[in-house]
Amino acid sequence: MNISLFQAELLRWYEKEGRRTLPWRDRSMPNRPYRVLVSEIMLQQTQVKTILEHYYFPFLQKFPTLESLAKASEEEVLLQWRGMGYYTRARHLLKCAKICLRDFQGVLPDCVELLKTLPGIGSYTAGAVACFGFDRAVCFVDSNIKRILIRLFALYNPTQSLLESKAREILNIQHPFNHNQALIDLGALICTATNPKCLLCPVSEFCKGKEDLKALNLKKTPKSIKKSLHIGIFEKDSHIALHKSQERLYYNLYNFPLLKSHQSLQKLGILKHSYTKYLLDLHIYRVKNLESLAQSVEFFNKESLQTIPISSMTLKILELLEKDF
Ligand code: SF4
Repeated sequence: MNISLFQAELLRWYEKEGRRTLPWRDRSMPNRPYRVLVSEIMLQQTQVKTILEHYYFPFLQKFPTLESLAKASEEEVLLQWRGMGYYTRARHLLKCAKICLRDFQGVLPDCVELLKTLPGIGSYTAGAVACFGFDRAVCFVDSNIKRILIRLFALYNPTQSLLESKAREILNIQHPFNHNQALIDLGALICTATNPKCLLCPVSEFCKGKEDLKALNLKKTPKSIKKSLHIGIFEKDSHIALHKSQERLYYNLYNFPLLKSHQSLQKLGILKHSYTKYLLDLHIYRVKNLESLAQSVEFFNKESLQTIPISSMTLKILELLEKDF
């Protein structure tokens, strides 16, 4: 492959078709490394559109700097994260800010190795923060870039180190920021997991795998675990009972309490909810007394519900109840 030509085609396409106006790609913004970090952590499990519409700007308004985040309580951060799910990200982000305040004079380290020592920051996020926050000429491989590399070089069952060496081979050290953003956009817009648009692809002439996409297809459906939860709704005097979870997945988030038994209770409905690898059937019952509940509870009225961190699962149930509550 002629690497310089490949890089030039990729950059030309990015200039014309890339998502260059995404706010975390604005290189003139103040606190750029911090803003990049927030966006990268949010993007780990949430789509660009959702982040832009609901979370990125309010989060930065509430915590405009790494220092302001470091001084926040976990409850405040979880509240701001409310509805986005995967709350471990929010906890890690907070821990990360606290460590930077304590160990790195209140700023994010600018090299991949130190970034990787921070909670919730793996190789990909460390590379992305170093490159997009500090203009470091580094490469990284996430699932989208992996897919592009596999197809581009026709790599059948590559090891991680082979993928990393291919990413290094094509890295544009003069323009690492735009090069890496271009790869991300190529994966999101053209070289997609299903139905890649090879006819529109700016690097199609360099692609060795485009004729053998079936064999190079990565898309494996992860095994999900089905689970049923039986959940109790206890309401009294316009107050509703919630349980503060101490379980790892929902730690410190409020959920509707589970039931000891659900026989002879009035069923309000069943909701489907997916969380990490779990596919949940939520069986929802109205309960008349606290003895039916298997967990301790606290009471909240409509206003106070706005001020506590609650899980996405609970938000979904609240929507169901909205007409009544
Ligand atoms: S030609 Fe097709 S398979 Fe190859 S990189 Fe482009 S979109 Fe992906």
